[in-house]
Amino acid sequence: MNTFKLSSVDMDARYRELTAAHGSPLFLLDCDVARRQYRSLRQALPEVDLYYAVKALPHPDLLSVLHEEGAGFDIASTGEIEVLRQIHVAPRRTIHTHPVKRDRDIRDALRYGCTTFVVDNPDELLKFIPYRNRVGILLRVSFRSPSALVDLSRKFGCSADQVPSILQLAERAGIHIKGLSFHVGSQCTDTRQQVQAIETCNVLIRRHHDVATMPLSILDIGGGFPVSYEDREVDIAAYCAPIREALSQLPAHVRVIAEPGRFICAPAARTVTTVVGRADRQGMKWYYLDDGVYGSFSGQIFDHVRYHLEIFAEDGPVYPSVFAGPTCDSIDVIAEDIPLPNLPLGTIVVGHMMGAYTAATATEFNSLKKARVLVLNRENRFGTVCPVPEHFISTLGMRGIKGRRMVQ
Ligand SMILES: *Cc1c(COP(=O)(O)O)cnc(C)c1O
Repeated sequence: MNTFKLSSVDMDARYRELTAAHGSPLFLLDCDVARRQYRSLRQALPEVDLYYAVKALPHPDLLSVLHEEGAGFDIASTGEIEVLRQIHVAPRRTIHTHPVKRDRDIRDALRYGCTTFVVDNPDELLKFIPYRNRVGILLRVSFRSPSALVDLSRKFGCSADQVPSILQLAERAGIHIKGLSFHVGSQCTDTRQQVQAIETCNVLIRRHHDVATMPLSILDIGGGFPVSYEDREVDIAAYCAPIREALSQLPAHVRVIAEPGRFICAPAARTVTTVVGRADRQGMKWYYLDDGVYGSFSGQIFDHVRYHLEIFAEDGPVYPSVFAGPTCDSIDVIAEDIPLPNLPLGTIVVGHMMGAYTAATATEFNSLKKARVLVLNRENRFGTVCPVPEHFISTLGMRGIKGRRMVQ
């Protein structure tokens, strides 16, 4: 169920201004919010180096802002490498974390200069024999996570029991496994999973230390840091406190890294949509928006999230209402059976917390264009030189809309 709130119509002036100038739907990416999120996670985990998981929202302006903040990047494909290359990210600040790769993928990453890779089984490990003098490997361990919204340990990761034998295999093959990694699952609301995973890895690292010449010197604790999809904030310092405590038990030589995606970008974007059609059907008022589950709201399908909607409307008697998307498909429905006053055509509906796994998974089904991205609070230094997908074209030099003057 989507949460929603009604806001008075005179509050939508700034959104109207934007849609008048740039059309509807829009995807508003606020770089100040991304910076704030990055800094608060840094503060909550000061001993941990952060590698932003590019897949969550691979927008070049967002990546540039994080680059300036000192972030590293977690990449999983040659396409993601291309975006980083264009904004001149030094390859040593990247790690390639896809556990399953073709030889081409490895070569593309090596040509770029990325030398840290993740594997989770003997086949994948042995793919590195030809490159063994140039790479350091992280071995991904699986910890199942019932409390995560998206359990990422079903598809990837070896079991803790398999770690010693894969480490031995690597030693015999002359491949350097430099550390362990895990990802407990995305939007993980309970830190017990991370704490247990860190404790198990601690045991594995210490055991390996006793028998091997090359110690495991990196622990990658993955992503999963949660946000609130309702109108609340997550206290990330409190959330991370048990994780920090568990990390403090690791041997001193272990460097810890993390791969946050959602936490950094989810709060950094809103979508602006407009009611473009209406109908009364089966006792419900249907409102057709110009963005839907094949577009920015794709996260409702792929990421299992229901976004908080803000509707700019006059108060009045309420009716059970439906928000549907613009495609001809019947699953393209954003929210059903929500009590709303009568909404005129042209009503603005804003989706909040829509930065993560939204624009990244949007399609152009029905040949409908993806929402245009407007970048707020960033001077775009790359402008049109940066060959990015069309829907990622940013507005040059646009300033924030929160009470600031807009410069075009
Ligand atoms: C998707 C992914 C992440 C990011 O996860 P969030 O839950 O968005 O923080 C990090 N690491 C890996 C390997 C991933 O696949």
